[in-house]
Amino acid sequence: MEILDGKKISNQIKEEIAVEVAQMKERGEKVPHLAAVLVGNDGASLTYVGSKVRSCKKIGFESTLIHLPEDTTEDALLKQVAELNANPDIDGYIVQLPLPKHIDEEKVLLAVDPNKDVDGFHPTNFGKMALDMESFIPATPFGIMELLRRYDVDTSGKHAVVIGRSHIVGRPISILMSQKGKAADATVTLTHSRTKDLKSITLQADIVVSALGVPNFLKADMVKDGVVVIDVGITRVPDETKEKGYYITGDVDFENVSKKASYITPVPGGVGPMTIAMLLKNTLLARERHKTKEA
Ligand code: NAD
Repeated sequence: MEILDGKKISNQIKEEIAVEVAQMKERGEKVPHLAAVLVGNDGASLTYVGSKVRSCKKIGFESTLIHLPEDTTEDALLKQVAELNANPDIDGYIVQLPLPKHIDEEKVLLAVDPNKDVDGFHPTNFGKMALDMESFIPATPFGIMELLRRYDVDTSGKHAVVIGRSHIVGRPISILMSQKGKAADATVTLTHSRTKDLKSITLQADIVVSALGVPNFLKADMVKDGVVVIDVGITRVPDETKEKGYYITGDVDFENVSKKASYITPVPGGVGPMTIAMLLKNTLLARERHKTKEA
């Protein structure tokens, strides 16, 4: 069994990006600039946005955090989005989800300029991704693909079973793994909460991508020997013995599933850090694409 070490690979990717940024600086070019919009004070969102901003600093990107109060109106947020679209200094930005209930998430995502949509959530980018066109690929599935590529995991002709059909993980990874290319060319089954007898399907899987957010969901008796397991789940489990008052766990019974797996991602240290690295990669791509347009 080999651990797919997302922490290690994400650090490699960040180092590669840092080298490119240093070269941009040497040439006197503008460096990539990522902005993040956070509405309210959701604990997990604060953590995610904080680490995105810190990562930007480490690799030499410019970053801007726009932290708006919980009671920000939809109109005020849309105005902020319009300003970011119009600001030539910003190469890419994200609007951290979830948004407070009184704001229509879809309306906000549709307002983001697809050329700055480094989360890859805009329908233009999602559509282009599905059609094998140049786009921004959502960071989490992009990170999974990159992890599989860098470990040379053979996916061609394999049966990949995805659990979960969200727009940000399950659906896009099922599309990407079914496309042509490295870490792809798989035969994909997308499963979800209405799937009947999931176990009979996961038992046929050469690769399982679990993205549902239920701790200990994928157990050893649900997978075959040699399976490749990608655990996307991130759940905070309350635990007073921990400094933060919780611990983080994935969807997979790691202790037992890892005994049968050929490759497996840990949680934490698997898909999570890859997500941040690929957001930075998308921001670098955004800068390069804008530069080409400016020239
Ligand atoms: P979601 O929470 O929007 O949806 C969960 C999905 O799981 C749904 O499509 C549902 O149909 C499916 N599901 C629920 N119960 C099921 C069952 N019993 N059997 C089969 N399918 C079932 O999904 P999401 O936003 O993709 O998040 C999933 C998990 O991944 C969460 O824990 C989230 O925190 C985590 N996540 C991690 C990263 C990362 O960077 N590692 C990024 C995004 C999400």
